[in-house]
Amino acid sequence: MPAKKNRDKGDKSAAIADPPPAASEPEGPPPPEPRPPVRVLYCGVCTFPVEYCEFGSSLTRCKEWLHEHDLEAYSKYYSDEALQAKIGTLSLEAQSKLEQETAKKEAKAEAKADAALKKKLASQVTIKRIERNKRKHVTSIHGLEAFDIDLKKAAKQFASKFATGASVTKNPQGLEEIVVQGDVSDEVFEMIEGEVGILKGIPADNVEIVEEKKKKGGD
Ligand SMILES: [Zn+2]
Repeated sequence: MPAKKNRDKGDKSAAIADPPPAASEPEGPPPPEPRPPVRVLYCGVCTFPVEYCEFGSSLTRCKEWLHEHDLEAYSKYYSDEALQAKIGTLSLEAQSKLEQETAKKEAKAEAKADAALKKKLASQVTIKRIERNKRKHVTSIHGLEAFDIDLKKAAKQFASKFATGASVTKNPQGLEEIVVQGDVSDEVFEMIEGEVGILKGIPADNVEIVEEKKKKGGD
């Protein structure tokens, strides 16, 4: 029968056309269709996805952050048109209530941020040159943590910069400080002033160098 013959032929050519599956490919369902990845942008201030910033208490700072990091997303959420579109659906009463609540929340958050900043600005970094004996000094640096600087990372930075030992230790008052071998106090001051590496955000006015001389007769 011609029909049967045709089918056989078709089957055969299909078998030839289909290459055997590659040996490395595992059996199982085919991989899902590639889809553009869903891009979630997390806020660098409140850590929520940026569309939820308004529910946090740092909207002003969130907005500043977004404006700096993703202008496109910023205009999507905060441009005049976006705000108009959103507010336009609310009654006047609801609008003013929303504005009041937002203002209240923000005032509170700003006061908190203000207090944190004041505390920071009142914090002192002390670089102490400590004389161990006539020739040997160590340098202790205290107070960096008040400026959100990771002490371990800072110690590492000092160690590699000065090719010397540096560690985080507790001082007699029980507070953590960095102790660097050798007298590097002026250099440390310059590094802080120049915001080298992770030493960022410390006003030079908040840094002082003090001397701790060995007591006379203590030799
Ligand atoms: Zn946010």
